[in-house]
Amino acid sequence: MNPEQEYEICILGAGPAGLSCAYEHTKRKRQGLILDKNPIVGGLARTEVYKGYRFDVGPHRFFTKNDEIDRLWHEIGGEEIIRVPRLTRIVYRGKFFDYPLKPFQALFGLGLFTSFQAFFSYLIAQLSQRNKPLNSFEDWITQKFGRKLYTIFFKTYTEKVWGIPCSQIGAEWAAQRIKGLSFTEIIRNAFFGQIKNKNKKVTSLVDEFSYPKHGSGRVYEKMRDHVEQHGFEIHTSETVEQIFLQDGKYLIQARRADGSLHRYRCHALFSSIPLTEFILKLQPPPPSAVIESARSLYYRDHITVNLILEGPAPFPDNWIYIHSPEVRMARVCEYGNFSKEMLPNGQGSAVSIEYFCFASDDLWQMEDATLISFAVEEMKTLKLLTKNRVLDAFVVREKDSYPAYYIGHRPHFEELKKFVAQLPHLWMIGRGGMYK
Ligand SMILES: Cc1cc2nc3c(=O)[nH]c(=O)nc-3n(C[C@H](O)[C@H](O)[C@H](O)COP(=O)(O)OP(=O)(O)OC[C@H]3O[C@@H](n4cnc5c(N)ncnc54)[C@H](O)[C@@H]3O)c2cc1C
Repeated sequence: MNPEQEYEICILGAGPAGLSCAYEHTKRKRQGLILDKNPIVGGLARTEVYKGYRFDVGPHRFFTKNDEIDRLWHEIGGEEIIRVPRLTRIVYRGKFFDYPLKPFQALFGLGLFTSFQAFFSYLIAQLSQRNKPLNSFEDWITQKFGRKLYTIFFKTYTEKVWGIPCSQIGAEWAAQRIKGLSFTEIIRNAFFGQIKNKNKKVTSLVDEFSYPKHGSGRVYEKMRDHVEQHGFEIHTSETVEQIFLQDGKYLIQARRADGSLHRYRCHALFSSIPLTEFILKLQPPPPSAVIESARSLYYRDHITVNLILEGPAPFPDNWIYIHSPEVRMARVCEYGNFSKEMLPNGQGSAVSIEYFCFASDDLWQMEDATLISFAVEEMKTLKLLTKNRVLDAFVVREKDSYPAYYIGHRPHFEELKKFVAQLPHLWMIGRGGMYK
């Protein structure tokens, strides 16, 4: 055991939340320590560089309705933040549909018969389900769009992401993600939205998003440089194993990649590691009801199979949602379509295929080489990859990517929230830390 070190502030996790937290502290001339188990910073929003090609952990666009966050991104990213034209589509039964959905295209793509079915199932939902309680994702979407559209455009993809039936996913997930969208809104946009747009310049018809030209992780690499220059220490490849609460102070025990154990004492603790993991690492252990709730909540894990391809991008999209039930992949993206700076000399193609799963699933357990062959075969099944153009490939497995909003999670979450709220000088931050 190495000698104990003392800091005013400790931050667990060097993802967007942990680094932004440190960045704000530097503005107030405070210093401290950040610990992260990964070798590089950025958490889920990091960029991995492999043979000169840059891959994020799944497609990350920089979009927020919060002005403060937008200002922060631009303050850090500066000139490196570019505007990227957005093309995202859904593939379903071999057909491509623009996303967000364009009603006329969807109508022609689905064919007249299916479109009529969709319209009537919407009417039936309006008549029969108007006052039905909306408990699940399935209830919410069916009531808003009708069963037919739910089956085509929501069910398969959502079940791939969550690994449970839509009837077991809480309605709050739908309300959070698809807020403001309704069948009537779609139809209104189809008529009036397009007529209005005719009067604007063509460029305004192209949806765009912000993106750092060297990948989403670049913003966090710049944040790392800033906070280090202003007195923060960042220890990467160091995993927090235990968190002791002693005499109103925290003692963090962490293990480095070389196996050595280190201890850090701090007065104020900010934690962005998964909330459940935090609870289970606490010493003395929390009451049994709290432990039980921590064991009842879970996160969905995520795999990206990253391919380096010879020649140009195999599709023009930033990313494509894979609704087709015959394959297990959920989404595929091409980083050269985000920014040519993601490719060495702007050449070649960097494709990333995403699978959502649990660490106990067969996909997670597969050898990398088998998983790569499996993903390439799925790409061929969807006709997204025709020739054998794969020059190289690697796999990234990411635990605890999405906090699960299954029906019944709320009381467990409230239990943990209440418990951490009464711990001294502790702030749970970020996606995993706040289970949000
Ligand atoms: C596939 C995918 C696509 C996404 N797309 C977008 C998008 O388009 N736009 C967008 O804004 N957001 C997107 N997100 C969400 C975004 O990545 C997250 O909101 C963001 O990364 C959360 O930041 P965070 O710091 O809270 O958590 P994280 O990024 O998860 O950071 C937590 C950090 O804690 C570390 N850690 C965990 N346990 C320990 C431990 N025991 N010891 C030490 N360190 C530990 C981890 O290594 C990690 O670096 C996407 C996420 C995913 C998975």
